[in-house]
Amino acid sequence: MNVPVSALLERKGHGVFSVTPQVTVSQAVAEMNQHRVGAMLVLESGRLVGIFTERDVLRRIVGPGLDPHQVLVKDVMTTRVTTISPDATIDNAMALFTEERFRHLPVMDGERLIGTISIGDVTRWISDHHRMEAEHLKNYIAGGLAT
Ligand code: AMP
Repeated sequence: MNVPVSALLERKGHGVFSVTPQVTVSQAVAEMNQHRVGAMLVLESGRLVGIFTERDVLRRIVGPGLDPHQVLVKDVMTTRVTTISPDATIDNAMALFTEERFRHLPVMDGERLIGTISIGDVTRWISDHHRMEAEHLKNYIAGGLAT
């Protein structure tokens, strides 16, 4: 799909859920649960320094049996974060989700963080697009038959 990521952000909003690296895992999980999201961006003085997702809770905390009240996010976050430009396409985002096997992408306009998209946002966008296209085609065919 050739639509830019910026169009999805316009619809979805530019909100970003974030924590600082010094919070505990249990504080980050509380934030995720409160906002019903699966990932927290980790920001230090406004700069993106990591990402921490529900998968990290399973693999890096629950799996090895660490205490989420003791461990800090900075010690279990992913620090090499892949980001996407608002000018990239929805197809580009989907390719990254598939190739990199993660479900979240911060959107960076140069140095500026302007939103986050998830694989859920993208699949919803694609299915809405297909539904609208099918509607158009149905109307077009019905219109053609009426004449
Ligand atoms: P997810 O599928 O998004 O829950 O993430 C799976 C793994 O990839 C976790 O270890 C995340 O910390 C990591 N991850 C998620 N999103 C990104 C991203 N945009 N760049 C780099 N790593 C990521």
